[in-house]
Amino acid sequence: MARSPRTLLLRLLSRALAPGKGEVRALEEALHLEGVVRFFALFVVTVVLPALLLGYLGIRSLRAEELDLQAEARRTANLSAGAFFEGLDREMTSFEDAVRTRLESGRSTLDSPKELHPDVVVALRFDRDLRLEAPFAASSTLLAEGPGPLDLSDWRRIDTLARSGVLPPDKAADAFAQVAADAAQPRVVARARFDRARMLARAGRIGDATAAFAEVADRYGTERDPWGFRYTDLVSLEVAELRLAEEPKDGAAALSDLVERLLSERWELGRGGEGAVARRALSTAEPWLAPDFVSGARGRIARRTAMLFWAEQLLPELDPAAAFAEAESTAPGAIRWRTGDRALWATTRWDDGLYAYAFDMQTLSSRLKADARGVVAADSPVLAFLLSPEDGEPTGVLERRSLAPYLTGWAVAVALEDPDALQRGQNWRRTLRFAVVALSVGMIALGFMFSLRMIGRELDVARMKADFAASVSHELRSPITQIRLKGESLMLGLADTDEERDEHYHAIVRESERLSRLVDNVLDFAAIERGAKSYTLRPGDLSQSVHRALVSMESSLEFRDMHLDMRLPDDLPAVHHDADAVAQCVINLVSNAAKYSPEGETIHVSARVVEGELPGGYSGPVVEVTVTDHGIGIAAHDLRSIFEPFYRSKDSLARRRKGTGIGLTITRYIMEAHGGTVAVQSKPGHGSTFSLRFPLEPPDGARRGSPRSFP
Ligand code: ADP
Repeated sequence: MARSPRTLLLRLLSRALAPGKGEVRALEEALHLEGVVRFFALFVVTVVLPALLLGYLGIRSLRAEELDLQAEARRTANLSAGAFFEGLDREMTSFEDAVRTRLESGRSTLDSPKELHPDVVVALRFDRDLRLEAPFAASSTLLAEGPGPLDLSDWRRIDTLARSGVLPPDKAADAFAQVAADAAQPRVVARARFDRARMLARAGRIGDATAAFAEVADRYGTERDPWGFRYTDLVSLEVAELRLAEEPKDGAAALSDLVERLLSERWELGRGGEGAVARRALSTAEPWLAPDFVSGARGRIARRTAMLFWAEQLLPELDPAAAFAEAESTAPGAIRWRTGDRALWATTRWDDGLYAYAFDMQTLSSRLKADARGVVAADSPVLAFLLSPEDGEPTGVLERRSLAPYLTGWAVAVALEDPDALQRGQNWRRTLRFAVVALSVGMIALGFMFSLRMIGRELDVARMKADFAASVSHELRSPITQIRLKGESLMLGLADTDEERDEHYHAIVRESERLSRLVDNVLDFAAIERGAKSYTLRPGDLSQSVHRALVSMESSLEFRDMHLDMRLPDDLPAVHHDADAVAQCVINLVSNAAKYSPEGETIHVSARVVEGELPGGYSGPVVEVTVTDHGIGIAAHDLRSIFEPFYRSKDSLARRRKGTGIGLTITRYIMEAHGGTVAVQSKPGHGSTFSLRFPLEPPDGARRGSPRSFP
């Protein structure tokens, strides 16, 4: 006989697993093992593998996401730093272009350097010998000061008296002449002479005054008074003002000429004065001058003054020699950058001179700081900031870009705004992902277990149905065989005595009753299952119905030598019930009592009124019918299931008795249709008590007088 590989495998397994046992037993064990292996394989395929796959995919995608985020942050950092540098580069290149264009076109870059770049505060030109050439001049040497600090005490006294009017101008002129004669220091002498001329003018001695001014201009023209004013300028101012008084037009022209002259000259660093003289000349002549000229000149003076201030502040930082040397190596017009503490210098060589443009570092850096902040989007996780050479390296920098050649030593750095945020986000995502994976796996496992349970239930029901069919056929067969046997004996005259014949007749009746009870149960069960069973509840004496049922069982009980102890009071209140159905319940319970008790035992059946509660909220007196036996009893774990269809105890003692597993189910259905209950109390080895409880009030359907269908 050909054998499949599976059969061969099972055989091999069974031999290995259970050597020395019977072949069937060994095969059973092998089959069981096969079942376990199958279950395990199913579990692995439906739960473990998907779980692993889910977990793997989850972790992989999480990792990818994390890398993506990091890469994204880096990319943003790179782009931001690049964008910032490009912005700066564009700005500075356009400045370089503007400078070159200006130089090439021959227009001066020195007057209005802000047109080249708004942050340029001063532009200077040095000649080949590194002398400051324009628009300012390095300080010239002054009149020798004489011994000791400048002594202006005498001069001051006269000046105060003259200003307050105590000393009239002609007297003041004499007093100043005296100061000039007495002073030891040439600078005091010069100033006193100038003031003498002023006082002569105030005194109206114009001729003397003019001569005195001319003399001062002549002797001290290029010198400066103690406050930095050039005598030539002071004299020009005074003379022009004198003219203004006499001939306003001429005077105003002289003053505006003075302004123009001052603006076209180089101002001296470290002295000042030119700006103040120009401002005074302009405001004195203003009523006679064109407003456009006045405002234009005022702007030029302000610009020049500011540039002078910046030049004085920043120039010490520039080393023109080094800048020139560097410029020599590059093409004319090419800009070289040098970064100082206070200024950023752009220098270039042109026409044999060195041009230097200074950016105020404070203005430039605070603007660039703002630019850096603006270079990243507000919702971006990164932050860009400007790093000066003094700033230390911050932590968590993703990108660092040097600002050379413009701002050497400076850099723009882009870092995560909150370095922990990325980590926190990752942790949160990890937890979430883990939870989702765990939940999915849990659900798969739950689904698996649930399906297994359902399959198990279905299998149980299928098995119970199969058992039921087998039991019914078996149960049918034994009474039929008996009836046939006894009938044939009678027919063939095999029973000799009357007693024997009597016994045969009784057996035939008993077995037909058993047969009809069985058939009734099966048909009823089928009707109940179809929902086609109905009961007609009528008020009546329950004791009578129970009694009738017990009488019908007498012969079969007698046959098994069972005794009946009946306690059925005849004064029970009337109960709505279907007499046949109640009889069926009692017969089921009593025949179970007989079946699951040893022969010769007594079965107690009693009825009484007790207080109780029933489903549907009924609470009050109920009629209770109890059937008690002293048989094998029922195990606690079976108690919950014995009323389920086809359920039969797996206990070996109970299994020895034939049965179908539907008797108690039908009883429960019938009791529910009566609005009552069936309950059991049992102790294995001691016996069981089944109680049927009926309400005194009829259930709803019966009260309406109609037959009550079930379910
Ligand atoms: P059957 O008796 O035909 O198996 P039933 O529905 O009447 O079916 O009973 C269900 C199960 O309840 C029985 O298989 C048996 O295990 C248990 N049982 C019922 N009555 C008794 C009893 N009086 N004593 C012990 N076991 C009982």
